[in-house]
Amino acid sequence: MNDILLLKQGEIVLKGLNRRIFEDKLVANVRRRMAHVGNFRIYAAQSTVYVEPLDDGADMEAAFEAARQIFGFVAVVRAAACPKDPQAIFETAREYLRDGFANARSFKVETKRSDKSYPLTSIQVSQEVGGLLSDAFPQVAVDVHDPDLVVNVEIRETAAYVHSVPALGAGGMPVGSCGSAVSMLSGGIDSPVSTWMTAKRGVHIIPVHFYSFPYTSELAKQKVIDLAKLLSPWCGRMTLEIVPFTHIQEEIRDHCPEEYFTVIMRRFMTRIAERIALENGCGAIVTGESLGQVASQTMQAMAVTQEPVRLPVLRPLVCMDKREIIEIARKIGTFETSILPYEDCCTVFTPRHPRTKPRLDEVIEAEQPLDIEGLVAEAVQNMEKVVISK
Ligand code: ATP
Ligand code: MG
Repeated sequence: MNDILLLKQGEIVLKGLNRRIFEDKLVANVRRRMAHVGNFRIYAAQSTVYVEPLDDGADMEAAFEAARQIFGFVAVVRAAACPKDPQAIFETAREYLRDGFANARSFKVETKRSDKSYPLTSIQVSQEVGGLLSDAFPQVAVDVHDPDLVVNVEIRETAAYVHSVPALGAGGMPVGSCGSAVSMLSGGIDSPVSTWMTAKRGVHIIPVHFYSFPYTSELAKQKVIDLAKLLSPWCGRMTLEIVPFTHIQEEIRDHCPEEYFTVIMRRFMTRIAERIALENGCGAIVTGESLGQVASQTMQAMAVTQEPVRLPVLRPLVCMDKREIIEIARKIGTFETSILPYEDCCTVFTPRHPRTKPRLDEVIEAEQPLDIEGLVAEAVQNMEKVVISK
């Protein structure tokens, strides 16, 4: 059977003159993802991206799964192409939807016709194909109001398509169509979700991880690499930047008041993230902070954390409950890895009584003994890059 995928474009169909730019990005993203699963002809027409296998080696099941993780589509549909006459459409539907008919008590045919030169109206096609299907499956009644099974037929310029049931697409915008951002990726539950949410809005991601060997183990680092790999089918190819953070944390421990350890550490993270962002032409820094979740995530602490930088700090989870965040983490497949027990550098030298409402002037005073510029430069110089691609 001549199976193809029809990927229905989402929000970008609302774009005006620059829609073409978004569509080209989307097609390029689909091409990159499909290259792993076979040879396909991939093109956009009429708010749809078509994925047509060029030979029998193409893995349509894998292509379907991959398509569901590409941002920019509201629906992913497998469809069988056939000649445009009702008899051929009927025969295709009979074979292609045999399982659907076996499980349904009622059905209807719904036809869309974008080939306006086609001699039959949509209603005529539906009636004719519906009649033939009704004869072929006499136990399944026609019900135009509330059928168990809808047989979708599309008459397009080149062929007719009979659809299987559409699956939900990933939504969002094509990755890369809305710029780039550095995303601070820890090994926890939250930051993979904030990274995913930002990519969903079309942002190319540069994940950055701070790593405090030997206070945190090789396994903690590997866990973050694994999380980045799980995110890559959604986010595309990424370069994970692993920043050595041990020296900075030791300096803070040795020279700053304990109650400010966390907030000073987080200010370093923000400064380094901005440095990486500016070097890579990124427009923002993303974190997985959520209001009130811990002492360092009060409004006051957030203000002090972002004070050293000028780029916007995006916090997609800021008003979400943990329960809602976990729901997304499960859906996108990161939760099971996130809950593995390896420690994060945030738990190294945690103050017994952190300040929940830090004052900026006091924090700046507390940072005075540190060579901030030197420590930032040293960390950036010793970064390790790991290319993550799907
Ligand atoms: P998460 O579940 O994402 O680890 P969290 O609730 O544990 O978040 P914190 O540890 O306070 O919260 O971290 C808040 C945010 O700071 C994280 O969501 C992440 O964006 C960033 N962050 C924390 N630790 C690191 C790290 N080691 N490397 C990179 N970013 C980090
Ligand atoms: Mg954490």
